[in-house]
Amino acid sequence: MISERLKSVIRDIPDFPKPGIIFKDVTPIFKDAQLCTEVIEAFVEQLKGTKVDVVAGIESRGFLFGLMLANKLGVPFIPVRKPGKLPFTIVKKSYELEYGSASIEIHTDAFEPGSHVLIHDDLLATGGTAQAAAHLVTELGGVVAGFAFVIGLDFLNGRKSLDTFSENIVSLTS
Ligand code: 5GP
Repeated sequence: MISERLKSVIRDIPDFPKPGIIFKDVTPIFKDAQLCTEVIEAFVEQLKGTKVDVVAGIESRGFLFGLMLANKLGVPFIPVRKPGKLPFTIVKKSYELEYGSASIEIHTDAFEPGSHVLIHDDLLATGGTAQAAAHLVTELGGVVAGFAFVIGLDFLNGRKSLDTFSENIVSLTS
């Protein structure tokens, strides 16, 4: 089962990037080509029946499976980036973190208005990042087709902050 396969390779790193935080390290997944294929197949299976015109991947770990998934679905991939990285005209959304705030940006011509945009990231924690991405998608006239995460940390209630955009929230493990 994909959830168990993922759990067996994802590493918990204590006190990273700050003391008290246990960081889920997903990098071992990418060392296993067969597991990467299974991740994409699991996303495709769980997204059956979902209309997806575009996959939006959140910097930076959301780029890795995001592009693979878009390619598998035969749709465009668009990057959602940290400030100052995208070269064309952008829209920006700021959001609150536990301490301070962060922003993400997207190109204004990333997709056609009315497109169904699937938002992908490696991990769902509080949901603040994916929610900000969803705001950008709707600001540009897109429809949030759903959210796809490799890991969903259920105890942080991230789903609550996303379900006003779409209740289609997929995660492969916890
Ligand atoms: P949220 O906005 O849902 O609170 O946090 C999710 C964002 O922070 C994602 O972009 C994710 O990549 C990153 N993130 C937070 N904690 C972790 C973690 O433990 N492991 C990984 N791989 N990413 C994390």
